[in-house]
Amino acid sequence: MREKFHKLPKADVHNHFHLGGTAQRLNARYPQAHIEIPAKFDGLDGMIDFIYGTLNQVMCTAEDVVFFMEMALESSIEDNVTLLEASVDVGLARFFDGSIDRVIEEVVQLKQRYKDRIDFRPDIGVNKDLPLEKVYSHGMHCIASGHFHGIDIYGKEAGKDLKPFQDLFHTAREHQLKTKVHIGEFSGHETIEGTILLLKPDEIQHGIRAVDSEKTMDLILEHDIRLNICPQSNLALGAVNNLKEHPIRTLFDKGINLTINTDDLLLFDATVTDQFIDLLEAGVFTFEELDSIRRNGLDS
Ligand SMILES: [Zn+2]
Repeated sequence: MREKFHKLPKADVHNHFHLGGTAQRLNARYPQAHIEIPAKFDGLDGMIDFIYGTLNQVMCTAEDVVFFMEMALESSIEDNVTLLEASVDVGLARFFDGSIDRVIEEVVQLKQRYKDRIDFRPDIGVNKDLPLEKVYSHGMHCIASGHFHGIDIYGKEAGKDLKPFQDLFHTAREHQLKTKVHIGEFSGHETIEGTILLLKPDEIQHGIRAVDSEKTMDLILEHDIRLNICPQSNLALGAVNNLKEHPIRTLFDKGINLTINTDDLLLFDATVTDQFIDLLEAGVFTFEELDSIRRNGLDS
């Protein structure tokens, strides 16, 4: 079964580009660093500590950043991911003397270099912790460049005001970009409703806490919003205890459009194929159901 899923073309549409490579590739490039990826993180804060404390010790230069991005493309291709929508964090400009143009240039070059092997569609990646003037200057610049396919907002979920991002989403929509926002992994279902009404996203990254409210699930259906779910990420960060208890089954039964993705392959060590197999073996989905989810991802 693993071979069967591995061979089939797949999509990964919730992927934070520079964290999308395998740990093996990382350790082969930086053998002296002896990087050990923990099996579990202490929530989102634990993950952020690991990124700052460990990964950012090896990702020091622009060249390193490009290597991290290239790892994501290679690792996706290795899993027969044929469609990759990955977010390019605009904050990475700090590695390129603050120049977002240089980041865009690298992304365009990678797109070109891999175009025969993968349909790579970069999203503009916006961390809510980035100062707002940088969000807008970099974000608007990326939108105007015409090289991006979508935009994705992420970072801490609970208690964060998304209103300041409304204009950015509005401009992105005007430029026919797909709009995505992270919400409802660690924040309650009411934050998902608030986000839908405020930002009107095309897709929600995670959104699993919608399971706690019929009303929220109805709102998702009404607005025809797809949830791009990353089960292994939810487990590793402690948002869900085990696969059998994962909200994905209830959301699927409700008729919500969803996909299965890696989030950060480097941190969570589970490819799209791995996660299909894990869900199958845990008895959450049948092969046919997983295959329909797989095709759904390719239908972007
Ligand atoms: Zn994510």
